[in-house]
Amino acid sequence: MTEERFDVMVVGSCMTDLVSQAPRLPKAGETIHGHKFFIGFGGKGANQCIQAARLGAKTAMVCKVGKDFFGDNYIQNFKDYGVNTDFVGQASDAATGAASIIVNDAGENAIVIVAGANMLLGSEELHKALPAISHAKVLVCQLEISPQTSLQALRMAQENKVKTIFNPAPAIPDLDTDFYRASDVFCCNESEAELLTGSPVSNVEEAHRAGQELLKRGCGSVIITLGPQGCVVAQGSASIHVQTTSVKSVDTTGAGDSFIGALAFYMAHYPTMPLEEMACRANQVAGVSVQTVGTQTSYPLKKHLPAELF
Ligand code: AMP
Repeated sequence: MTEERFDVMVVGSCMTDLVSQAPRLPKAGETIHGHKFFIGFGGKGANQCIQAARLGAKTAMVCKVGKDFFGDNYIQNFKDYGVNTDFVGQASDAATGAASIIVNDAGENAIVIVAGANMLLGSEELHKALPAISHAKVLVCQLEISPQTSLQALRMAQENKVKTIFNPAPAIPDLDTDFYRASDVFCCNESEAELLTGSPVSNVEEAHRAGQELLKRGCGSVIITLGPQGCVVAQGSASIHVQTTSVKSVDTTGAGDSFIGALAFYMAHYPTMPLEEMACRANQVAGVSVQTVGTQTSYPLKKHLPAELF
């Protein structure tokens, strides 16, 4: 068992992205030729963990992959990024989570996600990771694994006074209210905020209102990300629009995960920094990620970012 103290631990998902680019999306029963294929590493949990690691956080991932080629490859990917894999399990009865993605020349896509081994992460694995979780600085969870596992992990962290970030993605309507109470920072995007509040969230004003509504449900603070418009940070009776410099994006896949990974890094390294300052810096990190194609590969390293961010 590890004695290390991690800055950031993520309990969440790993997915292998199998991406085919083709002139158009095939119809049912049709086979067409594509012009490019690549394999990418994804999954919201893993993405967030890797962004935190690329900024210099000491990270560990708690997840489950399959005992298969993709699972072995994913473990190597974590190692390559310096993420601790002591709590990465390999299931023999399910495949590594995979997303089969077809992208057409207009940039539209069709995606099938099979969560596979991600859904087998449960209490047993969390108990094994408890000594590390209880000593971590920040714990991050999302909803790409069993919601009960995410909630249990958040509670474990909270009982041990570990700061929690919860990203309710992909959002589910009627989210158990215990998730709000277990979140120090509840961080979502506009469409997730819309689904959770049942009200439109398409501008800064509506994000302020949604933030207040979510805050009432019991979380410590709320951040709603707004793409090129940065984010809104709601805490107590205050709600602040943290603007960012809008950049021309070439691929926004995983921008929200870059933001959350960066936020986790700042919460672990600068625990007394005001949340809006952390959000301002996380905006800048995520803003870099949208300027390059790819998900984890587009996440900036500390050495490529301005010194003022550290
Ligand atoms: P989203 O998931 O679209 O809300 O984006 C997450 C975060 O990525 C935002 O809060 C911004 O910090 C950043 N971001 C996304 N798109 C852009 C953009 N075009 N320019 C600058 N930052 C962006």
